[in-house]
Amino acid sequence: MSRNAPAIDAQRLSLILNDLRLPAIKLIWPDFTTRADKEGWPGARLLAALAEHEIAERDRRRIERHLGEARLPPGKTLDSFAFDAVPMISRARVTALCSGDGWLEKGANLIFFGPPGGGKTHLAAAIGLALIENGWRVLFTRTSDLVQKLQVARRELALEAAIAKLDKYHLLILDDLAYVTKDQAETSVLFELISARYERRSTLITANQPFGEWNRVFPDPAMTLAAVDRLVHHATIFEMNVESYRRRSAIQRQSRAGRPPTFATTKSNEEMSRSDNQTCE
Ligand code: ADP
Ligand code: MG
Repeated sequence: MSRNAPAIDAQRLSLILNDLRLPAIKLIWPDFTTRADKEGWPGARLLAALAEHEIAERDRRRIERHLGEARLPPGKTLDSFAFDAVPMISRARVTALCSGDGWLEKGANLIFFGPPGGGKTHLAAAIGLALIENGWRVLFTRTSDLVQKLQVARRELALEAAIAKLDKYHLLILDDLAYVTKDQAETSVLFELISARYERRSTLITANQPFGEWNRVFPDPAMTLAAVDRLVHHATIFEMNVESYRRRSAIQRQSRAGRPPTFATTKSNEEMSRSDNQTCE
């Protein structure tokens, strides 16, 4: 601080900044003001620098909170996603979706189909992460876990409130839709969730089975039809029909090690899902 500056009651200033909820300014004002004095910044520049810093910190804290609540599986990012493994999906398309603009406001949906191991969960989580970094709120959940929670809520006559609570998430990622059991009561909570979010809030669904087999998810054909109808009305569908990434990586590692790839031929989905249960890493 310059010698001519009037004395400041630093303790009182700290309290005021607390009251005003400006923790970043509280932390940095001694450094910033010293530098401003030394470099002769105009007052307005100092004020702007402090304010900019506070708002940037506020955004960072909000994103951190949103990341905490999202329960994304760790390590699944767009950077670590090999787009060349899924030639039917363009990086540019996914990058555009990650801004969230144009689809999250109108509650449009994303649906990823494909056999196990093809990267549906990874891509869904990576998009969720990017959306959070862009200021949106996301919740990632296994479909069966959420269905169970909603069922409990229904037993406690609080289903509507539980579904309304999910409204705060611009995107709800329901991973592995097809693994929900066929029990009528279970799937009707899922249907109610889908209906409640329709055209208001977005949902991303990953599923191993195509729509044609969703009758096994929703045992009542009318309910299946109504659910699919609402989901696809405003939706982008990615068909990720590729071989299991884990299996392919294992084969590549094996051939790099000099051994011939002994099972690099195409397998049926059933065979793939069996071998996908083994950890090749
Ligand atoms: P799915 O949900 O379709 O069954 P996952 O997303 O769980 O598949 O993918 C299985 C494993 O392979 C995960 O560890 C995932 O991170 C990895 N993986 C899948 N596809 C890719 C990809 N294109 N690039 C990088 N890793 C991938
Ligand atoms: Mg998955």
